[in-house]
Amino acid sequence: MKKGRCLRLENGKRLKDILTFLEREYPCAKTALDHGSPFQMLVATILSAQTTDARVNMVTPGLFNKFPTAADMSHAGIEEIEREIRSVNFYRNKARNIRKLSGILVEKWSGKVPGSMAELVSLPGVARKTANVVMGEAFGKSEGIVVDTHVKRLAWRLGLTKNTLPEKVEADLMECIPRNRWISFSMQLILHGRKVCNARKPLCEICGLAGCCPYAAEIGRDKNKNEKDQP
Ligand code: SF4
Repeated sequence: MKKGRCLRLENGKRLKDILTFLEREYPCAKTALDHGSPFQMLVATILSAQTTDARVNMVTPGLFNKFPTAADMSHAGIEEIEREIRSVNFYRNKARNIRKLSGILVEKWSGKVPGSMAELVSLPGVARKTANVVMGEAFGKSEGIVVDTHVKRLAWRLGLTKNTLPEKVEADLMECIPRNRWISFSMQLILHGRKVCNARKPLCEICGLAGCCPYAAEIGRDKNKNEKDQP
């Protein structure tokens, strides 16, 4: 591990403790988004932006029942797609992107989802985070690390980054997390963020990472720590 951006990991032991805990606590961490193919995983991930996974899982059965493949979706009317997904945030924009990318998949990749970062981010509505999720879940491949709101918050609290911009947080994590853990690490952090390290009130007193967490140590030193200090 290089020294520098991967902060306060003096001799690597703290990082090892973090990784060991996460693997033991969440050995089978996977996305909570229901899907039956790489195409459906891609669509579900696009729908999940600014929307909970639970909400997405409520609309995708109907959507995928009507339009299970890229070819089916590319022939759907925008209003039909909108009707199926209207309870998710930004559904109009998402419906347009989903139909457009379906047409591109049919035209350029015979309806299949491509498996590289460069190809995925060339699709409408697909940014780096979405591409990382799809590559990991659908193909078991990683060219980066998923940084969502949970990963960003936990990486900062655990002292793995000083940055708050997702691209910079991802670069910091890629520098210190072993490559064979890139997929599982972010899924495990997401689960831990939902279950224990909540945004408003982290449950440090019951957290198995408290012994290697600088944020918990700081909270312990200063019970009145201002929550505004964190991203
Ligand atoms: S000790 Fe507290 S701040 Fe650190 S990871 Fe656990 S819950 Fe989050």
